[in-house]
Amino acid sequence: MKQRPLSQSVFEASCRVIPGGVNSPVRAFPGLSLTPIMATKGEGDTVWDIDGHSYIDYCGSWGALILGHAPLAVIQQAIEQIQKGSTFGMATPYEREIAEKVGYFFPSMEKMRFVSSGTEAVMSAIRLSRGYTGKNTIIKFDGNYHGHSDSLLVRAGSGAVQLNAEASSAGVPLELASQTLSLPYNDIEFCRQILREREDIAAVLIEPIAGNMGVVPAKPAFLQMLREETKERGIVLIFDEVITGFRVCLRGAQGLYGIRPDLTCLGKIIGGGFPAAAFGGKKEIMDHLAPLGKVYQAGTLSGNPVAMRAGLATLQEIEKEGFYEALQQKTDLLLNPIQEFIASSSLPICLNRVGSMFTLFFGKKEVDFKEVLDEEMYKQFFCYLFERGIYFPPAAYEAAFVSSAHTEEHLLYTRGVILEFLVNEALA
Ligand SMILES: *Cc1c(COP(=O)(O)O)cnc(C)c1O
Repeated sequence: MKQRPLSQSVFEASCRVIPGGVNSPVRAFPGLSLTPIMATKGEGDTVWDIDGHSYIDYCGSWGALILGHAPLAVIQQAIEQIQKGSTFGMATPYEREIAEKVGYFFPSMEKMRFVSSGTEAVMSAIRLSRGYTGKNTIIKFDGNYHGHSDSLLVRAGSGAVQLNAEASSAGVPLELASQTLSLPYNDIEFCRQILREREDIAAVLIEPIAGNMGVVPAKPAFLQMLREETKERGIVLIFDEVITGFRVCLRGAQGLYGIRPDLTCLGKIIGGGFPAAAFGGKKEIMDHLAPLGKVYQAGTLSGNPVAMRAGLATLQEIEKEGFYEALQQKTDLLLNPIQEFIASSSLPICLNRVGSMFTLFFGKKEVDFKEVLDEEMYKQFFCYLFERGIYFPPAAYEAAFVSSAHTEEHLLYTRGVILEFLVNEALA
């Protein structure tokens, strides 16, 4: 086992002043009986912990780092802005510039607002939908994650047929949780029936390619059905593209599927490694926001100029000719032989992938909704890679990411280690 005495002692000290030692729960490596990484440095596709170990990073700050760590073009813009003032609490020209660029790639986002986190973007989109429609009930889908706002920490109840959703966190009032329905992902007939029966629905909120139960793409016919039924009933269709936006392609999942939602939420990549997110859509809906309309939404650091310039610099990199083709080639180099191996073996393992996001599911041959996985096997997989200097998301129901900074050498090394694990451990 890797010796990590510094990480261990800093983590222990952190635990005395920070609940669980971390500022976001999965960082604590729950259930892994391993001291979490205490990161100090990132460069390209690699991160270092304070003990000096390096890891090839396939988590990429949970999908934010499509260019890898500390890309020069991005940090130059950020540094320049920091020197000129890191926040004003006033409008800046960069907000318009990035809004125009985002709107160009996401034509459904006729107007948009910038906020500081994906949670805030989705929370605001929900409030706006309720204010716009005058209705209260929100439909979401089992296994989708939309940040930690009260209305969305809800999962299907045990009696899913009665739709009695329950809060997935303590501290969420039942009164609020009961205003959200959590329906089975990709279940076309069931969801259509609910949409036709209920008259109190303000919005349908979906990850069009789920990343938070592992990578699970929606069936095209499922999204098509949601678009048709919501349109007919004046329900706001919200695509949560916080992961997929600028990840699966420049135009996001809505570009891939050719579906135009009413509202879209973006995050992660759009901040270029700084805290920024956005929500936007139809002018008619967006103009209900204060100061034009009656739906309140605000933020001291919203549209922060450092984050806006870093985001803009990121978009300028990824819109360059051939960027996504090269990213796809890197991903293929890593994954194609693994996919072939799995297909030719009898292992209950499945590889779901869209562009540069992917998940290896242990315990199932096929995954197209929230499944119960072999979490023990995933832990073994994680630790096997970790010991060999490769960092995957430290939990089974997550997406992994390839960035443009991953080198061929590192991709081939990773591929070898994964195949070795599958042969030696999984097949054993
Ligand atoms: C990460 C994520 C969020 C929450 O974003 P934060 O910036 O962590 O608040 C919301 N929706 C999806 C789909 C996400 O992946």
